[in-house]
Amino acid sequence: MSWFRRKRASPLASLAGEWRCAGCGERHSGLMDLAAAAPDPWPHDGDREPNGAIRFDGDFLSEDFCVLEGRYFFVRAVLEIPVHGLAEKFGFGCWSTLSRANFDLYLAGFDDGRFPDGGPWSGWLSNRLEHFTDEEPLALLVFPQPGRQRPTLLVQDDSHPLAIAQHEGVTAQRLLALLHFYGHAPAA
Ligand SMILES: [Zn+2]
Repeated sequence: MSWFRRKRASPLASLAGEWRCAGCGERHSGLMDLAAAAPDPWPHDGDREPNGAIRFDGDFLSEDFCVLEGRYFFVRAVLEIPVHGLAEKFGFGCWSTLSRANFDLYLAGFDDGRFPDGGPWSGWLSNRLEHFTDEEPLALLVFPQPGRQRPTLLVQDDSHPLAIAQHEGVTAQRLLALLHFYGHAPAA
């Protein structure tokens, strides 16, 4: 089939439409996101409870909320990075800490997606993103979103490489290198 022999004009072409991943073997569609199932400090295996079962008596993990030792609070969010030449942004599905007060505000507004306080709230990035972050704690602004969309994150320090990536975008090559690190690659 000639489709398979078509020469690629640019790295962007390899992220268009559906593509077979030479890394994990799955089919991905367009610009795939990376997602972390839990904050990096989560010490247990992946078993997640329903969001509605939220409790504060120890360790808790669901799709959107995490509590550690009853006193550290995390929410699942998305950190977006524009990619040069693409309308769609790359999304890093990751976790941010919140204060207990803001965690409670988030829980209160979660079901109807309304947050009278509006944010942004302060948090700390709770997952590493290879090529962009190191071991240093990274302060974030957490923007709650209407309509049950996950909060979006902005790096507070404008001079940090991840902040620069968020503001200026990254090349498709750089994004492909990132995906490759995490085991995903458009088939050659
Ligand atoms: Zn893959």
